[in-house]
Amino acid sequence: MPSPATLTIDLKALAANFHTLEAASGAPVHPVVKADSYGLGASACAERLMVEGARTFFVARAGEGERLRAALGPDAAIYVLDGCLAGRAARLRAAGLKPVLNTGAQLAEWQAAGGGACGLQIDTGMNRLGFRLEDAPEPFAGLDLVLSHLACADDPAEPMNARQRDAFAAAAARYPGTLRSFANSGGAFLGPDYAFDALRPGICLYGGGPEGRPDDRIRPVATLSAEVLQVREVPAGESVGYSRGFVADRPTRIATCATGYADGVLRAYSPKGLVAVGAVLRPIVGRVSMDVCAVDVTGVEIAVGDRVELFGARRMLDDAATAAGTIAYELLTSVTARVPRVYI
Ligand SMILES: *Cc1c(COP(=O)(O)O)cnc(C)c1O
Repeated sequence: MPSPATLTIDLKALAANFHTLEAASGAPVHPVVKADSYGLGASACAERLMVEGARTFFVARAGEGERLRAALGPDAAIYVLDGCLAGRAARLRAAGLKPVLNTGAQLAEWQAAGGGACGLQIDTGMNRLGFRLEDAPEPFAGLDLVLSHLACADDPAEPMNARQRDAFAAAAARYPGTLRSFANSGGAFLGPDYAFDALRPGICLYGGGPEGRPDDRIRPVATLSAEVLQVREVPAGESVGYSRGFVADRPTRIATCATGYADGVLRAYSPKGLVAVGAVLRPIVGRVSMDVCAVDVTGVEIAVGDRVELFGARRMLDDAATAAGTIAYELLTSVTARVPRVYI
């Protein structure tokens, strides 16, 4: 029996997106599986991606890397984007993790602990993590990957993309023989001169489009579905949910569905949110509450026990995110531990 609210992950679609990214860019894909593969489950996703040929992965935190190492065994290379924080080198080494060094202090910390295989992040304009171009260190032993990150890859018309690419090419030339990784999901579709030696995509693997909207090249991977707990006829003039968030202006059929903000259905899904009820999209009405939300199913054939889809193949993830005033990344990573992940 599926749980009332379930996140279903289609591993075949994940694999298809992996191969699409490689084909689009001509470069190998080194999947980003941080934040538990954007909430989809890093072990299951990375194991499947290894079957598809992936050998190198990126996580954000050392703890994520340790869990991934336990799941994948010794054959995978795992880079930690946080780098080497003070006092953490031994822990990274024990799990065979490669820090992506971001600062001179991190480099010193890593080398003081004996150094070894690691990456280096160059900041080419995002001003988030990494060495400024003028502060980039001389080549050093153990360095096997140099990366930089695009700030606006979801907007192909943004001139900053080419400036960052050129700055990265110049910086990477200082480290001959070191693998160069530049493009995230959006970057994978910006053209061959953005691919360098390895891609670092996340969201497109997990079903989000490269430009923040549904894209025919990317298959939906995650489906958040919820069971209908009750169907009721609400007379005109009555309200639904907390704070009279919705008032019926006509007789309205309401399906109360088993998912709420404690599952990651943000309160911001209302008032613009739509869910797929069978083949049609219907509005979420009133306030999303902790465990349930209300859907206007007037005129729709629906019964207790049916399932509605918050996002998935019939309600695209990017559209659901836009309606909630956010992005696919946040919708996926908002799905909480209460929701079982089911792999198909
Ligand atoms: C999260 C992240 C990625 C993946 O980005 P997507 O837009 O999800 O493809 C790549 N590189 C770095 C440094 C990141 O932080």
